[in-house]
Amino acid sequence: MIQIEPDPWRVMLAHARASYPGECCGAMLGRVTDASKLVTDALPLENVFPGPRRERYQLRSEDLLEAEREARRRGLKLIGIYHSHPDREAYFSPVDLQNSCPWYSFLVLSIRGGEFGHARCWRPDDGQTRAEEEELIGPEG
Ligand SMILES: [Zn+2]
Repeated sequence: MIQIEPDPWRVMLAHARASYPGECCGAMLGRVTDASKLVTDALPLENVFPGPRRERYQLRSEDLLEAEREARRRGLKLIGIYHSHPDREAYFSPVDLQNSCPWYSFLVLSIRGGEFGHARCWRPDDGQTRAEEEELIGPEG
């Protein structure tokens, strides 16, 4: 189960809307217990995919390392990555799976016509052959 607090939720939605019709991406920081993950901070990162960004995102590995350092500075963990799907459902695409890693949760935000639609969270398996949906609890419960 992954739970998202109101502040990071607002940051991610604002980032996704501002990036429309391109995809946005960023890091989710927070606390992990045995039973659940709590996202307390969101760090918007730059989508550096060199082609059209409507259907792809790419993170700089340095930005991801810096996000991990920032999480440590705040006494938190890097829980996962978020990105948006402009005018598409919040599924986990084959490309998303290929570019994922099994130790993170992947939040996908569906943005329709520039406005937030819905979100789903995914957890890739060790071989990155498939992703399981993770129960997601947004700030509205
Ligand atoms: Zn995607």
